[in-house]
Amino acid sequence: MEVPFWSREIETLDRGALEKIQLDRLREMVSWALKTPFYGKKLEAVGVRSAEDLHGLADLERVPFTTKDDLRRSFPKGLLAVDMQEVVRIHSSSGTTGIPTVIYFAHDDVDRWTDLLARSIIATGASSRDIFQNMMTYGLFTGGLGLHYGAERVGMAVIPIGGGNTKRQIQTMKDFQTSVLHITPSYLLHIHSQVEAEGVGRDELGLKRALIGAEPHSENTRRKIEDLLGIQAFNSYGLSELNGPGVAFECVFRKDMHVWEDAYIIEIIDPATGQRVEDGQEGEVVLTNLIRRAMPILRYRTRDLAFMHPEPCACGRTHRRLSRILGRTDDMLIINGVNVFPSQIEEKIMKVPEVATNYLIHVDKKGALDRLTVKVEIYPKLFLGDVAKLEALRARIREELRSSIVISPIVELHEPGSLPVSEGKAKRVVDERPKD
Ligand code: AMP
Ligand code: ZN
Repeated sequence: MEVPFWSREIETLDRGALEKIQLDRLREMVSWALKTPFYGKKLEAVGVRSAEDLHGLADLERVPFTTKDDLRRSFPKGLLAVDMQEVVRIHSSSGTTGIPTVIYFAHDDVDRWTDLLARSIIATGASSRDIFQNMMTYGLFTGGLGLHYGAERVGMAVIPIGGGNTKRQIQTMKDFQTSVLHITPSYLLHIHSQVEAEGVGRDELGLKRALIGAEPHSENTRRKIEDLLGIQAFNSYGLSELNGPGVAFECVFRKDMHVWEDAYIIEIIDPATGQRVEDGQEGEVVLTNLIRRAMPILRYRTRDLAFMHPEPCACGRTHRRLSRILGRTDDMLIINGVNVFPSQIEEKIMKVPEVATNYLIHVDKKGALDRLTVKVEIYPKLFLGDVAKLEALRARIREELRSSIVISPIVELHEPGSLPVSEGKAKRVVDERPKD
């Protein structure tokens, strides 16, 4: 397989040279961080008063973690390291709690971030010849503008359509023969169901690739997308605290995501102890941003759970690979005392061929007990089929789920199009238990 590169030299640097870049940039970032009220205090407390106090990469472990709450408490300018005059962009995280966080970029910060996105796009095999339809939400969310800039730098023809208006999305895909999409996996599955409903054939579309991210999804969902649409789907990971998309991206081999280690230092820790875990072991992703001066962030606890691959990738890149995101430390449901991750449920139901493209996890209370209901859409042909068959399908899905999550949920079968659809990040869990 041909392996395309945007910056071959940097992407294939040997480990020693890569770590030298990391240390130089880490020192630079610490100097910038020391200018902020937040890190000024925090670093002083552990005896880091200048970049010279970091002698090697191992000294990163002296630096305390940064959390989402730290960012909230520092709102709006506690982490700003440059004069406001130098800021060219302000983004804000799509937090659901209502307390905002803010991310500042200076001119060169946007430039370096854009370069990572160009690198990520080229790594998937897409090129300047492609037509790129960006279906991610534009605005304060980093996903839209981030990839937009990267795609322009690659020289693709960019359609900045943003999220929503599915009919128009499909018409646009036909009109311009869009070959690459940037989209959440849940919205892409919805697009597919509309393509089917409108009777649009694959040959009427020029689709080849989808860059999917911004929300958790399983390998079975990726496969489903690839089979239904006859395309290749590439996992894209990022978060606004670390600029946005372009922290880690899959290459042409689609076997998990290269973390751009000249731009980020990744650590995987045990969320309970804060200690690093071995490669291959699951833990919480902790990231240090090495390329943003306006707002440095060191050792950010992402709450995302994943593991690092110990073995190198066939593409020849030396930047190590991160597994897909397996869950979040804060999305675990406790159902009558049993721990259940939504990702376990998604993985099982997306494997069932009769299951269509949407599902919802619902939790409420019946008397003293928690009740877990998994609602899945199935294909219309089956929905109109005979009751005994439907009952057997329901039992089969329940059994699949029980084997993974230990408890037996209620399974409801729904007609396609009947469960709520999200045009951005999907909300898969509705928890209606009273909070006490
Ligand atoms: P935001 O800062 O609003 O962009 O949200 C970032 C969060 O979205 C991450 O911390 C992850 O929980 C989630 N996320 C982003 N990309 C992915 C991905 N490829 N797979 C799973 N979750 C993702
Ligand atoms: Zn690779």
